[in-house]
Amino acid sequence: MKTFANLQEEVIQKGLCHRCGGCVSVCTAINYGALGFNEEGYPQYKDVEKCIECGVCYMVCPEAAYEEEAFMKAIGWEPPIGPVLAVKVGRAISPEIRQRATDGGVVTALLVHLFKRGMIDGAVVAKRISPFKVVPSLVTSAEEVIEAAGFYHDVSAGVQDWSEKYSTFAPSFEEMRPAMVEKLKRVAIVGTPCQIHTLRKMQFFKVAPSETFYMLLGLFCSGHFNFDEAGRKKLEEIGGFKWDDIAKINIKDALIITLQNGEVKRIPLDEVEDLKRPACKFCEDYAAEFADISFGGIGAPDGWTSVIIRTPKARGAFADARRKTIEEFPLEEDPKLTEKVLETVKKATEIKKEKAKENKKKYLNNG
Ligand SMILES: Cc1cc2nc3c(=O)[nH]c(=O)nc-3n(C[C@H](O)[C@H](O)[C@H](O)COP(=O)(O)OP(=O)(O)OC[C@H]3O[C@@H](n4cnc5c(N)ncnc54)[C@H](O)[C@@H]3O)c2cc1C
Ligand code: SF4
Ligand code: SF4
Ligand code: SF4
Repeated sequence: MKTFANLQEEVIQKGLCHRCGGCVSVCTAINYGALGFNEEGYPQYKDVEKCIECGVCYMVCPEAAYEEEAFMKAIGWEPPIGPVLAVKVGRAISPEIRQRATDGGVVTALLVHLFKRGMIDGAVVAKRISPFKVVPSLVTSAEEVIEAAGFYHDVSAGVQDWSEKYSTFAPSFEEMRPAMVEKLKRVAIVGTPCQIHTLRKMQFFKVAPSETFYMLLGLFCSGHFNFDEAGRKKLEEIGGFKWDDIAKINIKDALIITLQNGEVKRIPLDEVEDLKRPACKFCEDYAAEFADISFGGIGAPDGWTSVIIRTPKARGAFADARRKTIEEFPLEEDPKLTEKVLETVKKATEIKKEKAKENKKKYLNNG
């Protein structure tokens, strides 16, 4: 049985770990908590003697490819972008949500609907605590979801957060479980593709607390950029603005920076490629291929969200939210819009996969 020692060798030391926190989460939830995070957010042994060599951390790591074939088959993954049941373009009906949201606010509007319908009793989202600092947050009401709307450029360790919430319920899994069932039974989780991949693997291997996952909502992702001091300086040079002037950041086919004075700067992603976190350079998932439903701004008109529905559960939820919290783009204005969205997402995926393979060859000799 492979364990965290193998993850260290095969994933972390090679620079492939994207800090999703899945390994730490499962170890904390079902064992004695042998793992923790170092200062940079990478997993490490907290107390190696507590490791019972169960191998679950290895199973759920998206980079470890454990029983990959069976996993892909079970979720019905198909090339080139994973399962697609339908493509939609939509936006929130609520002007308040639209005003706070990154694109059309469909993620928030769908979560609000799920809360109102009583389909979920919790959601893991990201919450802003300062302009560029966010914390993953477990929310339990529609109001809190609306507060968390928007784009947060940070490494949201949603999975990690879940483990912390989860592990605080009780000191051991056996005691934790009833508390969990009583408190939160159905949780929707918003995450980047790498996080969603880990969560789906937890579900496939039936690892706690995946029995509480109601729906996995994935965000398209070109990468997380490292805006440390050097990164900020570089961005200021490229964009010709001061960091403090930034009002809002979005990523579509470019890094889109809105300044406080309303001016919008579009920085080609190629120009900020070297600001990406190391693992993002090797990541092949653009469209959150393992989600129930995926969202992005690419392909949609400004102020609208592109949506890829992947599972019947998500299709039902989206249909039920239509005309209640979500409105669809009037396709009579552009009958081919959803086809164009799908093509755009496929193209972006192809580019990301090719680049990741090139980078793996170049940096890891592992193409
Ligand atoms: C790092 C990152 C990179 C992205 N790259 C692309 C891209 O290349 N192309 C593209 O089309 N779209 C990209 N997106 C997705 C896009 O920015 C929007 O999130 C998406 O279009 C949904 O918009 P919305 O208005 O419907 O969502 P909203 O209604 O605004 O809801 C967004 C939800 O996402 C949560 N959230 C925000 N930031 C994070 C985070 N870092 N981790 C986990 N949850 C978070 C919020 O709490 C909120 O619940 C990216 C998003 C992120 C976070
Ligand atoms: S106890 Fe299991 S999950 Fe935790 S580090 Fe060891 S092998 Fe991994
Ligand atoms: S599960 Fe996530 S955090 Fe853990 S080693 Fe794998 S990629 Fe890194
Ligand atoms: S590119 Fe996005 S999905 Fe891929 S590792 Fe980076 S943050 Fe995760």
